[in-house]
Amino acid sequence: MLIEHNVVMKDPRYVDIRFASCYPNLYKTAMSSLGFHIIYDFLNSREDVYCERVVYPHSRSLESNSPLSHFNIVSFSLQYELDYFNVLKMLNNGIVPIRKNDRNLNDPFVIAGGPCATSNPIPMSKFVDLFIIGEAEVILDEVLDTFLELDDPKGEIDAFKDIKGVYVPDNPAKRAIVRNMGDANHPIRQVVSETDDERFRPAFGNAFLLGVSRGCTRGCRFCMAGYLYRPRRETSLRKLFDIAKRGKRATGLRKIALIGAAVSDYSKIDDLCEGLLDMDFRITTPSLRIESITEKLIDTLHKSRLKTITMAPESTWRIRNVLNKIITDEITIEVVKTIFERNMNVKLYFLVGSPTETSEDLNNMVKFIKNLNKLSNKRNAVKISINPLIPKPHTPFQWENFDLDGIGPKINYLKQKLKSIPLKVESLRSSLIQHVLSTGDVEVADIIEKAYRQRTPFKEWKKLSKGWNIDDELPWKNIGVCIKPSFIKEEYQKALRGDTTPWCEKSGCYHCGADK
Ligand code: SF4
Repeated sequence: MLIEHNVVMKDPRYVDIRFASCYPNLYKTAMSSLGFHIIYDFLNSREDVYCERVVYPHSRSLESNSPLSHFNIVSFSLQYELDYFNVLKMLNNGIVPIRKNDRNLNDPFVIAGGPCATSNPIPMSKFVDLFIIGEAEVILDEVLDTFLELDDPKGEIDAFKDIKGVYVPDNPAKRAIVRNMGDANHPIRQVVSETDDERFRPAFGNAFLLGVSRGCTRGCRFCMAGYLYRPRRETSLRKLFDIAKRGKRATGLRKIALIGAAVSDYSKIDDLCEGLLDMDFRITTPSLRIESITEKLIDTLHKSRLKTITMAPESTWRIRNVLNKIITDEITIEVVKTIFERNMNVKLYFLVGSPTETSEDLNNMVKFIKNLNKLSNKRNAVKISINPLIPKPHTPFQWENFDLDGIGPKINYLKQKLKSIPLKVESLRSSLIQHVLSTGDVEVADIIEKAYRQRTPFKEWKKLSKGWNIDDELPWKNIGVCIKPSFIKEEYQKALRGDTTPWCEKSGCYHCGADK
C-alpha cells in the first residue's frame, strides 16, 4: 500500500482551475523528478488553483481519484520521448479525446512541458494544445491568467502565442528560463512516499531533492540538456543550506539527492557536501563530471555512505574530442582508482555510434574499458553501460541520422570483446524509435497514435528515421532555445574535424547566444 506525506488537499469546488499535473511514466520516476515537485508546489501556492498529480499507468489523480476529464487543464511532463505513447493512453483512459481537434469546449485544455517539449514539440502537436518551452515557473502564471480570461481557450488559442516560453503549434516560440536562481521555486514540503513496495520507491530512494543548479555549459555535442538550458545557473550555498534544513524538518528525510545537469561543476561542491554531511544527511548524486571530482569530494561522499559514483567517460580520447568532452584517460583512471581506494563502486557510461567513429576507436575503447575493469577488486566493481548515440535537436549532432545498421555490429563486437565484463546495453530498436520521436516532424504524430493503438512493425519506424542536410529546414526551426544556429553549425564542423571548444566558464565566453 502507498502512504504519502505532504500531499496537498484542497476543495476543488473553491478553486478557479483544477490542474492535473501528469507524469507519463511510473510513480518511482515521477517522484524522482524535481521538476514534477516544483510544478506541484508552485501551482498549489496559488489559491485559485488546485494541482493534483496523475501518474502512469493511471488516469485518475492521487489526491482525489478524479479522472482527467474532470480537470480544466491537463498538463504532461515530457522527460522521455518513449513516454509519448503513455500520454495517449492516459488521455484515452481519462476520457479525453486523444486528438486536440476532436475535443470540445467541455474537454480539458491539454498542455505539455519538459525537455522533450522544449527541444521539439512538433511530433506531439496533434495531441497537445500548447507547449511550455523552458522552465515552468516563469511561464505558467501568465498561461493560467490568460486561460482564466478566455471563454474558449482552445478556440482562442492565439491569445497565448505571444507569451514568452509558449509554443502554440505553427507559431514561433522562444524559450523562457529563470535567470537568477534566487527567484527559482524550490519545493520544501516535498511529497514523501512511505512504502516497502519497490514499485513506489523513487530512483534515489526516499531522498529530499535539492536543486543545486540548472543548465550546463560544458558543450558536449550530443547532450540536449547542454544546449536547451544555457547558461548554467547556481543556487547560492546559503540558500541551499536553508532549503536543506527546512526540507529535512518538513519531510523527516535524512537522505538528500543533489539535482542538476552538472552537479560536480557546482562552484562550491566540496563545501556543499561537507555542510550537508554536518547536517547529518546521507548524500546521493546523479552522474558526476570526471574532471571536477576532487579527492575531497570523494571522501565526503564516502563518509556520507554513498556506495557508487557514476561517471561518463563516453569513449576514447579521440572520440571525446569529437564529442567535445575533453577528459583524458589518465584523469579518468586516477579518479576511478581514488574511488576504489575508498571502497566504493564505479558506474561508467559509454557511447557507441559517435560521428567519425572507426574500428580502431572501438578497439581502443575495448582496451580502455579493460584497463578500468582491471582496477576493480573483490570488494568493488566497475559497472559498464553502453548506449547508442541518439542525435538530438538543437545539438551539433542534430543533422546526423541514427545509424542502426552501423551501430548494431559495433555493439556485437564490443559484447564479444568484453564478454568477461558485465555490460548493460541500451536497446537499439527503442533508441531508433526515440530518435524518430525526438527529431520527427508533424507526420510522426500518426505513427505515435498507430503504435499506441496496435503493434506497429519496426520497419515503419525505420522508414521514418533520417538525417538532415546542414541547410535543410529542421522541424524544430520555430523553437528558439537562445543558441545561435551558426554556433551549432560551427560546432558540428569542428566535431567532424575532431576540434574542441574549451569550457566557456574557464576559458571565456564565445557568445553561443545564451547571453542574449
Ligand atoms: S559561451 Fe558565453 S553565452 Fe554561451 S553559455 Fe558560455 S558564457 Fe554563456
